[in-house]
Amino acid sequence: MTDLIAQMTQPRVEGALPGPVSAAYLARQARTESNARSYPRGLPIAIERGEGSFVRDVDGNVFIDFLAGAGVLSLGHNHPELVRAMVEQLGSLTHALDFPTPAKDAFVEAQLSMLPPAMRERTRIHFCGPTGANAVDAAIKLCKTATGRGDIVSFQGGFHGASHAAMAVTGLVSQKQPVANGMPGVHFFPYSSCGSCPLGLRPDSCETNCATYFERSLRDPNGGLPKPAAVIMELVQGEGGVIPARPEFVRRVRAVTAELDIPLIVDEVQTGCGRTGTWFAFERYGITPDVVVASKALSGVGSPVAVILYDERLDVWSPGAHTGTFRGNQLAFAAGTEAVRIVRRDNVLGNVVARGEQVADRLAVLAAHPLVREVRGLGLMWGVELTDAPDGTPASELAATVRSDVLRHGLILELGGRDDRVVRLLPPLNVTPEVLDTACDILLAAIARLERG
Ligand code: PMP
Repeated sequence: MTDLIAQMTQPRVEGALPGPVSAAYLARQARTESNARSYPRGLPIAIERGEGSFVRDVDGNVFIDFLAGAGVLSLGHNHPELVRAMVEQLGSLTHALDFPTPAKDAFVEAQLSMLPPAMRERTRIHFCGPTGANAVDAAIKLCKTATGRGDIVSFQGGFHGASHAAMAVTGLVSQKQPVANGMPGVHFFPYSSCGSCPLGLRPDSCETNCATYFERSLRDPNGGLPKPAAVIMELVQGEGGVIPARPEFVRRVRAVTAELDIPLIVDEVQTGCGRTGTWFAFERYGITPDVVVASKALSGVGSPVAVILYDERLDVWSPGAHTGTFRGNQLAFAAGTEAVRIVRRDNVLGNVVARGEQVADRLAVLAAHPLVREVRGLGLMWGVELTDAPDGTPASELAATVRSDVLRHGLILELGGRDDRVVRLLPPLNVTPEVLDTACDILLAAIARLERG
């Protein structure tokens, strides 16, 4: 065992995938689990062990894991100090509903300490059920309660979760279509997706007209839109294909919502906890939101926890307004407090910035590639959007080919964006330059092989 762990510093795949043991697990899973299971369909492996930026499957193959629990494992798999904090906590208290506890108290302190000082004083925190979607639901309920209004504005291409309400504010039509009677009163506006402008404009000559359209629609007495309870947005659309919003768009959305007294919810489930190089992405956009939704990387190690952080003026909902049995995960609190300490001590945010520049440098060569439409990213969330091949092969098929190819060479990547045309990189935030280089080598080689067929 020690031998194998020692080898988890390099990817190593032997033979076809899935290997025989993985194949047996996958077959059993297919017999017993839901048809709605998703990740193992594109990444057919059974995972046995994780260590830093690596995982090992049940056949002994070692992969660089740049899916990292869909952005959850900010400090990699099984960070030893986070594991130690959890093990210590395990011996004293694991579950405590929403009672105050020493572990929770320290976690709240740590989270508030990461907010910009002016915001910290006015922020309330609510512990939600332990998923991003549940926290999105809570944010919507909070704003509806506080404003007495019922409509919600969201943006095309956004992803906010798979619960009924979170799905209603999500763009993904294929997920919504089969489920009748979704939450009513949701209105979608164009996002500043400059690589493929929803208004058909060019970024070098437009005047951020998506923001103009948004502002005018909210102000238009004949626009058909009642004043909404909230506007919800991602600052970098993650599942939507790694689309960083244009800063002017974000600032104008913030300005008009503030002017019209419409709470702005920023969904930082994926961008939060350091992913873009600041603790929250809203900091780099220079705005102050009314509600922040955070979840995935809060514990740093994948122990579930989700919160909303919001301005105290919205705190008018009643006791019990958003309950949930699993809102007191003490293990996640212990790990999350430790994660904040490590992020500061190890300058993890500095690493995110430096490694983000490294990705930009390494992938710059793709700008000239005929099958690459765009390379986009911020911090350590990156996407390579492919384009249909001259022979008619759809971009989504090419992206799936890249995902299988890199897996065979020891790199786990997922897809996203419209029709899954974007190959996405979500490394742990403490990834080393060497591992990142190896991953870029594998990705570039796979994209080069696309051309050769
Ligand atoms: N919001 C965003 C921005 C997300 O990326 C996700 C998950 N990918 C969610 C919400 C939903 O989180 P969860 O899967 O934990 O419900």
